[in-house]
Amino acid sequence: MIAEIISIGDELTGGRSLDTNAQWLSRRLAELGVSVAYHTTVGDQLAAIVDVFHAALGRANVVVVTGGLGPTADDLTREALAATIDRPLVCNEDALDQIRCLFAQRGWKMPDQNRVQALLPQGARLIPNPHGTAPGIALDVDRNDRPAAHVYCLPGVPAEMRQMWEQTVADDLRRLGAGRRMIRTRRIKCFGAGESAIEAMLPDLVRRGRIPQVGITASKATITLAVTAEAATEDECRAAMEPTLHTIHQCLGNLVYGRDDDELQDAVVQLLRRHGKTLATVEWATDGLLIHWLRSAAGDGPEVAGGLVVSKHSAWKALFDMPDQATTVGDEPARAMAQAVRQKLGTDYGLAIGPLSPRADGPATDGAEQADFAIATPQTVHVECVPLVSHPELRKTFCAKVALNRLRLQLLAQTHPL
Ligand code: AMP
Ligand code: MG
Repeated sequence: MIAEIISIGDELTGGRSLDTNAQWLSRRLAELGVSVAYHTTVGDQLAAIVDVFHAALGRANVVVVTGGLGPTADDLTREALAATIDRPLVCNEDALDQIRCLFAQRGWKMPDQNRVQALLPQGARLIPNPHGTAPGIALDVDRNDRPAAHVYCLPGVPAEMRQMWEQTVADDLRRLGAGRRMIRTRRIKCFGAGESAIEAMLPDLVRRGRIPQVGITASKATITLAVTAEAATEDECRAAMEPTLHTIHQCLGNLVYGRDDDELQDAVVQLLRRHGKTLATVEWATDGLLIHWLRSAAGDGPEVAGGLVVSKHSAWKALFDMPDQATTVGDEPARAMAQAVRQKLGTDYGLAIGPLSPRADGPATDGAEQADFAIATPQTVHVECVPLVSHPELRKTFCAKVALNRLRLQLLAQTHPL
């Protein structure tokens, strides 16, 4: 089965609302083994909606529509569907009863305008909406030379749409043969190299048409490899993905920090927990992002004792007892901060992000910056200066991720000494 999702509404095409329904529906369709080939978004214009319906019926055999089923003049889904298949709209008595009932339950008089919501294209089936006045529409559309296409129109209100999907549409699709196969995706999360560098380390895995399929995306310097397989059972999906997941781990080594929803802080907290170690942080230039992430990942656990957040030179001098003439030139500030916070909080590790400074190796005028990252243990302090290569808007996120990744690699090296 090939599916198309059509989202209807001026608020979507005008950029005022985000189309979260299409995302939710795509995930549900994948669970039923139905591939979604198209997401189409169209405004509240009759001719445009009819155009989109024609195109969808030509290229997909499952068409799921959301939005435009309300009672007002800008709700045109019913009318557009009837026009597309050239059938009249007729009143569905069950739909009308359900709408009346809903108004009665609320103790309101039903406005005449809501009668329009009981109109369905001739031959369509009603999809009950237990909590709203917009009934859904199910319709099988005959196509000359091919099997029928199945159209489901659902309201735009996410809660209503989801309930109607679960109570009616999913079962209807199962009856049509969906769900015998399933689509599953596992994600491998990496940090420490760019998207193209990571692709180049993999043996042609990202080529289109490969089974299982491998996709690569970058978000805020985290690279995600999504491995997608289709099979009859969870176990078969897992077995189909396993060799590819293994190859990715082999090729990328320590660039991989986790799977699925894991973040770098989850990996760090797990490693600290495994070794029974504790951490204190001090961060300059990240406004507390590092300690916020770490505390969220550690929950009530003892691994993350606490963190200091430095915003100004004066705060740095006061917190670390620096003399008045102290400057932040060189890597000494990060080194000293990591040691001091470790000692103050009595932890095994101290992790410091030093102040930003102009890139030593870049042209003086291009605004490029760098920061020192230090990790203190009772025995040593490692400091590394890292150029900040991300977009300026992502600088804080990038710094916090670099710090976490430095610590993660150090913790791994201690587990598997070179
Ligand atoms: P409608 O069914 O077109 O009257 O839409 C009713 C409301 O549902 C809209 O005002 C939006 O708040 C919400 N909505 C409509 N379409 C979507 C969509 N694709 N994703 C998320 N919310 C939506
Ligand atoms: Mg609308």
